[in-house]
Amino acid sequence: METQKIIENIKTEVEQAKNLAAEQISDLSETEKTELISRIKHLLKKRKAVLVAHYYTAPELQQLADETGGTVADSLEMARFGNKHPASTLLVAGVRFMGETAKILNPEKRVFMPDTRADCSLDISCPAPLFTEYCDSHPDHTVVVYANTSAAVKARADWVVTSGIALKIVKYLTAKGEKILWAPDKHLGDYVKKMSKAKDMLLWPGTCVVHESFKADGIKQLKKQHPDAAVLVHPESPEDIIAMADIVGSTTAIINAAKNLDAPRFIVATEPGIFYKMKQAAPDKIFMEAPTGGDFATCESCLRCPWMAMNGLRSLARVLENESLENEIHVDEAIRKKALIPLNRMLDFQNK
Ligand code: SF4
Repeated sequence: METQKIIENIKTEVEQAKNLAAEQISDLSETEKTELISRIKHLLKKRKAVLVAHYYTAPELQQLADETGGTVADSLEMARFGNKHPASTLLVAGVRFMGETAKILNPEKRVFMPDTRADCSLDISCPAPLFTEYCDSHPDHTVVVYANTSAAVKARADWVVTSGIALKIVKYLTAKGEKILWAPDKHLGDYVKKMSKAKDMLLWPGTCVVHESFKADGIKQLKKQHPDAAVLVHPESPEDIIAMADIVGSTTAIINAAKNLDAPRFIVATEPGIFYKMKQAAPDKIFMEAPTGGDFATCESCLRCPWMAMNGLRSLARVLENESLENEIHVDEAIRKKALIPLNRMLDFQNK
C-alpha cells in the first residue's frame, strides 16, 4: 500500500516537474538568453556567490559555472568544492539533496538553489519515517545509503556512499562480515551486491526514473548499426542494461571513459546533460543517447531528468536577484550533525 502511494507520488511529481521545467525554456530568444547570462554573471559577483552545477544540468548552466570560476561536478565533488571555495554563498544547480549535502558540509555558508522543489525519484522513494521503521526492524544490519537521499535519511545511516565509491565501501564492510541494509536505489544496490559478493544485503526498492527507462533492445539495435561504439552505463540502470556495458561507472567514470577508451563513438546510458562535459573531454568522438523505448515502450522521464531540467537561466537569475528565502536550503541542526557523521565516514574512507 505504502509502495503504491510512493509510486503515485513520483508520477505526480514528475508531471509537476515537467511543467516547471517547461517554464524555464519556453519563449526564450537568443537575445534574452544572452541578457540573462550577463545579468547572472554580474549578480554572482555582486552577491559574492559561486555557481556549483551538476553534470546533468543544461549546457548553458554548466558553461556559466565554468566561466565564472564555479564548478561542474558530481554530487560529492559539488559539496567538496563548496567547502574549499572562499565564497560565502553557494548557488547549487541540481536537485534538493545536493543542496542539502552542501549545507550539511558547509553550515556556515548560505546555500541557495534555483528551485528547491527540484527533487529526485530516489529521494522521494525513501521517506525518512518509513525508512527509520525499516532500519529499526533490522538492528543487526549496517545501514548504507546512497547520496540521493534526504538529510533525515542520511542522519539514520551508518554510511553515505556515492556511485563512485559504493562498491569499495560495501566490499570493505562485507570483508568485515557485516550485514548490510542498502537504500534507496535497488539497481545500484543489486549491482554492488553482485560485484562485492555480499551475502546478506537487503535492498530498498527505489529507482531513478531516468536510468530505469533505458531499453536493452534499443541498445542492441543501435550497437548493430554502430559496431565500433562502446557502451557506457551508469549503475543506476537495470541489470540487462548493465550486462551490455563496456564500462559501468559513475558520471565521472563515464566522462573519463570517453577520453580514455579507443572507441570513436559511444552509446551512453545516463542523463544526456553529461554530453556537455564528455564533448569537452573528447571533442573528436561521437556520443549517442541510449534509447529509452521502442514503439510500445513507456517511460516516466524519457531520458531527461525532469527535476534537473527545473534549473534554468530564468530561475537562476530570479534567485540571485531576490535571494528569496524560499530558495535557501536549511537543514535542522540536530539532523545536520547526525548526517555529517556517515558523510565524513565516506570522505575519510576515500582519503585513506
Ligand atoms: S537523474 Fe535520476 S537519480 Fe539523478 S536526480 Fe534525476 S531522478 Fe534522481
